[in-house]
Amino acid sequence: MATTLLSLAQETNPWLAAAARFDNAADKLNLDDGMRKVLKAPAREITVNIPVMLDDGRIEVFTGYRVQHSIARGPGKGGIRFAPDVTIDEVRALASWMTWKCAVVNIPFGGAKGGVICQPNLLSDGELERITRRYTAEIIEFLGPERDVPAPDVNTNERTMAWIMDTYSMHVRHTTTAVVTGKPLDLGGSQGRPEATGRGCMIMAVQALKKLGIDTAGARVVVQGLGNVGGMASKLMANMGFKIIAVAEYDGAVFNKDGLDIAALMEHRRETGSIREFAGAQDMDRQEALFLECEVLLPAATENVIHSENAHRLRCKVLVEGANGPTTPPADEILREKGIFVIPDILANAGGVTVSYFEWVQDRQGFFWNVELVNQRLEEIMVSSFDAVVAYADKHSVDNRTAAYMLALDRVAFAIKLRGIYA
Ligand code: GLU
Repeated sequence: MATTLLSLAQETNPWLAAAARFDNAADKLNLDDGMRKVLKAPAREITVNIPVMLDDGRIEVFTGYRVQHSIARGPGKGGIRFAPDVTIDEVRALASWMTWKCAVVNIPFGGAKGGVICQPNLLSDGELERITRRYTAEIIEFLGPERDVPAPDVNTNERTMAWIMDTYSMHVRHTTTAVVTGKPLDLGGSQGRPEATGRGCMIMAVQALKKLGIDTAGARVVVQGLGNVGGMASKLMANMGFKIIAVAEYDGAVFNKDGLDIAALMEHRRETGSIREFAGAQDMDRQEALFLECEVLLPAATENVIHSENAHRLRCKVLVEGANGPTTPPADEILREKGIFVIPDILANAGGVTVSYFEWVQDRQGFFWNVELVNQRLEEIMVSSFDAVVAYADKHSVDNRTAAYMLALDRVAFAIKLRGIYA
C-alpha cells in the first residue's frame, strides 16, 4: 500500500502527488501511453533569475518560475505566488492542477502557474513592485490574453495584478486589461472576483450537505486559514446559518462551540495581528482544530495539511478543499475508508478561476456585468460541475477526486485528439 512505501517527504512532494492522482485517473480511463505522456508533461517551463535593486541600494537576485502545463483547451491560466518556499516541483504541480480545474468546470483555459522565491513580508511595496515588473518583463513573450493569463495566488493580490497589467501594456504599447485577472475593479476587474473562491467553497459545502441530507442550519464548520478563501467562505457560510466553531491560523486556533462571530474575529486580528485571545472564543492548538467533530472541514491555507499520519483523526462529514493540494494521495485512501465526502480542490476552489474567466470575457468585450449576474453564473457553473462530478463518481464507482480527475483528463485528452499533434 502506498501509505507504507512513501516517506512523508515523498508523500508531500506536490509534483509526486499530482502524478499519483494523474496515474490513478489515467489507469481508470485506460488512456494510451502517448496521450499519458502528452497530458502529464508540462508544455513549457520558464525559470528566470531577476536582479532587483532593494531600497537600501543593494542588488538582490530573485528566482521566478512560470510553468504552462497545458494550452490544449485555451490559453494558460493560473495564479502567481510569492513565497520563500516556492519550488519548481510545486509550481509544476499547481500548473497541472489548473489544467484539471479549468477542465472540471469546463471553461476554455489550459493550466499554468507562476512563483517567485521571496519573503513578501520583509519587502517594501517598492521592492515588491520592482520584483513584479521585472519578473513580468522577463516572461513577457509568453504572456497575453490568448497565451497565458496570470491571476493572484498566495501573497499576491489585485495590486500585483495592476503592476503586471501595466508592465505588459507598456511593452505592447496599448492597455491590455485581459492579460491578467483579479485586477482592481477600476482597471477592468470583475465584480465578485475577490470573494469568488470563498463563494465557490460555500456553494460546494451547501451542495454536499444537501446530497448527504444534512441541514445547513447549525451545521458545524472548522476552517483552516482566514485569508481570502477561508475568510470569505466563513463569512458567507455564517450568513447562511452554518456555525463556524473553529478557525485555525498559522499561529494558533480559536474555538467556540456555539459559533464564532467571523467579522469580529477578523477585526480582532486586524487590531492585534493574531486570531488568538479573541474575546468570543477559547484558544486551542492549531493542529488539534482539524480533528474537531464537525459537518464541514475547510482547509483553506496550504498544501499537505492532511496526510497519512493524521487523516485517520479527521471527524468531519464533508471535506471542502479550499486550498490547492491540502490532502496527500495516501490520505485519500484513509478518507475513503472513513466515508468522508471529499470535494477535491480542483472542484472546490474553482470558483476563483471561474470568475477569472468572467473577468477575461468582460475585458475582451469591454462590457461589464453586475455582481448579481456574476454570482448567478458562478453558482450555475459550480452546481452543474458538482452534479457532473458526483454523477460520474456514482456511475463509475469511484471517489469524487478520482471522478473529477477522470472527467478533466478525458476533456483535455479529447481536445488534444481533436487538435491533433502538430509536426
Ligand atoms: N490562484 C487561483 C487558483 O489557484 C486562481 C487562478 C486564476 O484565477 O487564474 O485557482
